Amino acid sequence: MSNTNTLYQHGTLALLVPGLLDGTITMKDLLSHGDTGIGTGEGLDGELIILDGTPYQVDSHGNVNLVDSNFTLPFANSHFADYAEMLEVEDISRNNLQKQITDAAKSSNTFYSVKITGTFKNIKTRAVQKSSQPYQSLAKTAENQSIFTKDSVEGTLLSYYSPAIFDGVAVGGFHSHLMSDEHDFGGHILSFESVSGVVSFQQFDNLEQHLPTDNKEYMEHDFSNDNILDDVHNAEG
Ligand SMILES: [Zn+2]
Repeated sequence: MSNTNTLYQHGTLALLVPGLLDGTITMKDLLSHGDTGIGTGEGLDGELIILDGTPYQVDSHGNVNLVDSNFTLPFANSHFADYAEMLEVEDISRNNLQKQITDAAKSSNTFYSVKITGTFKNIKTRAVQKSSQPYQSLAKTAENQSIFTKDSVEGTLLSYYSPAIFDGVAVGGFHSHLMSDEHDFGGHILSFESVSGVVSFQQFDNLEQHLPTDNKEYMEHDFSNDNILDDVHNAEG
């Protein structure tokens, strides 16, 4: 039986900051740790979301692609879904949504996931354009991003919440990706005006943090001069 109490994470957001963007886990490996997840590809190749065991990529042209098992990622989260319905929301703002979730969850000091199925109004997403070696910093690489907007979209938002004390390992707070029901729109969520739908919740009591120890550049990198927290927030917050 799969462990639904564990959040699996490969890599850290911190390692992206200086531009350690090699793909260090395959999608096949990632899927062995969960049927649900989010991440980015090698060289920040788009925004990924895994729903019900199927991985999708939104690339910088806005195309939605099915991801094959050899695709590699520098950073990703996955877990085995076991959500319980928590809230129904009707036409509320993103800030109000986050407040309602944090109030209902009472889980600010642990990791959890929320999944929202519903209708999102005036949503803005982004997908970064893949870069190749030699990589530049996260901040520089993420400047090459496309922004997508839609007046109204029905879809699934998948979000991971990380406690503030894990800032850098992850991004403290919520990190959210979206996939439309039609599989024609998605990406890393920048903003939306309102949402109506069903919010489901799954709490974790284990974080399984996997590091790319086979990657020479990661193992030899000196992080002491990197501006980790500011850059993580600018690029991923
Ligand atoms: Zn993202």
